[in-house]
Amino acid sequence: MMSDEDRAEREPWRVSIAEFKGFLGHVQRSTSCPVCPHRGDWTIHVDAEAPNFGLDPNLLVYVIPGFSPDNLDKAKYRQGHFAMECPNCGTVQFVSCLSVARHLGLFPEQKTDG
Ligand SMILES: [Zn+2]
Repeated sequence: MMSDEDRAEREPWRVSIAEFKGFLGHVQRSTSCPVCPHRGDWTIHVDAEAPNFGLDPNLLVYVIPGFSPDNLDKAKYRQGHFAMECPNCGTVQFVSCLSVARHLGLFPEQKTDG
């Protein structure tokens, strides 16, 4: 479990697999692939270069070309996405970093549920 100190030190778009799966469960995202018959776990894209929190690697952040993850402010941050891939057919789906970060309370001033 991440301490408040760890959370305070990291960039808000650094999200672990466990946190991402928690978000997916919270929003009741379907595990069914919209393209093929696969139903179940998806392959989550992780960033091998990023610092890990606990034992869990951090997710890779995809940004619109021209934006650097190191320079993301709150407006640009909306351009960032996490990705998950169907292990059967390779379909990739993107999830907004902002949606996940809000769910995790990384932007408590923007939290709407609670
Ligand atoms: Zn598929």
